[in-house]
Amino acid sequence: MEPSVSGGALVASNLSYVQPTESSAWGTFLAQVDRVTPFLGHLERWAETLRRPKRTLIVDVPIELDNGEFAHFEGYRVQHSLSRGPGKGGVRYHPDVTLEEVMALAAWMTVKNAAVNLPYGGAKGGIRLDPRKLSLKELERATRRYTSEIGVIIGPLQDIPAPDVNTDAQVMAWMMDTYSMNVGSSSPGVVTGKPIHLGGSLGRVKATGRGVFVMGCAAMRRLNMPVAGARIAVQGFGNVGSTVAELFAQAGAKIVAVQDSRGAVFNAQGLKISELAAHVAGHHGVADFSGGESMAREEFWDVGCDVLIPAALEGQIDVFRANRLKARLVLEGANGPTLPQADDVLESRGVVVLPDVICNAGGVTVSYFEWVQDFASFYWTEEQINQRLDKIVLDALDQIWEVSQKRRISLRTAAFVVGCERILTAHEERGLYP
Ligand code: NAD
Repeated sequence: MEPSVSGGALVASNLSYVQPTESSAWGTFLAQVDRVTPFLGHLERWAETLRRPKRTLIVDVPIELDNGEFAHFEGYRVQHSLSRGPGKGGVRYHPDVTLEEVMALAAWMTVKNAAVNLPYGGAKGGIRLDPRKLSLKELERATRRYTSEIGVIIGPLQDIPAPDVNTDAQVMAWMMDTYSMNVGSSSPGVVTGKPIHLGGSLGRVKATGRGVFVMGCAAMRRLNMPVAGARIAVQGFGNVGSTVAELFAQAGAKIVAVQDSRGAVFNAQGLKISELAAHVAGHHGVADFSGGESMAREEFWDVGCDVLIPAALEGQIDVFRANRLKARLVLEGANGPTLPQADDVLESRGVVVLPDVICNAGGVTVSYFEWVQDFASFYWTEEQINQRLDKIVLDALDQIWEVSQKRRISLRTAAFVVGCERILTAHEERGLYP
């Protein structure tokens, strides 16, 4: 790519290996960077680093299938920034995973870790595969080969993966074991979200959903919205969506609608979340749940509710849906669920959006606790974990809310201001190598 001169700095004109669009994940991240840049003062001169992932690795993941045939999958690990510490971010297994998506997810991790002030950069990984089409043994072989391939850039002090969509504690156990075998010593700190017996942390599984709930309640207090009786709609009923639905239901809110990849259900009186969880465990989705009325998946966006919680995938709230949805408050459990143009629509309609980079930071916060406990080989109680989690995310929320009010900017831009100031200050203090 030809270098060009811009604003007195020497920069390449753009990245040759992705073609972002307005609605793609990387395009969304770039638009968010454009929005924060005018608020960065003298740090603006470093902002181009945010648009360029530091390190991008694409690997071939070949495995032998149970029937003796071979299959190849594409795997990725992107370290977006390492200025504030090691890379940190999950690994996603999904048939639609692309390099561009992983780049955006890695970048959002950089901003998130900085916005809640964890000592990490940002990274993310993924394999382009459909886990539902593989046996457990095939999934294990893919995980182990992927871990070996990205082993050149991960490690407890380099980059620490964790679970994301379709990956869980078992996948983390295989990753930890493979990395440990390759380096010749047991290395629990290389991944977080591990099983408890392997150095996992109490409270990690529910941490993301808990963070969404705790910050959601705090936001509702500020907006004078009582939690008891509030009508809540949740998209995605996996790790994040099911936990946050359960916690809000326990607090007296009504979960009036849930949508997932298989269907959508509605109950004006509130769905019984434990029964829905049992149904999903047996049927792999919310469709046909007898405790509510089935509805077309698109109708989910028209449901009368006070709070909407997207907790599935990115790019779900576009302009069309933003104009229709009824909620006063959106809690982004998912990463990147709202497109920039939809953000503008929501703002003009007076809908408050608690953005992903703060709202779902509970997971990485407890991942940080897990990593610290692994180094110390000394483990905390669940009560200690939850107390520390609540304090970190609520302090971060207070700070971002204040910046938003003072500078009259959205909570998303405020979270980016707080995060990007920390990232770029670290970058500036370290200086440009060599
Ligand atoms: P998961 O795999 O446990 O669950 C994903 C859910 O989304 C499932 O219910 C699935 O049916 C649903 N879904 C998938 N595609 C959909 C579609 N097209 N329409 C509607 N629903 C769909 O994943 P998770 O860990 O709960 O992650 C959900 C989101 O939260 C992702 O954006 C992830 O990046 C983000 N997140 C997760 C964590 C974590 O700790 N797991 C932390 C921070 C952010």
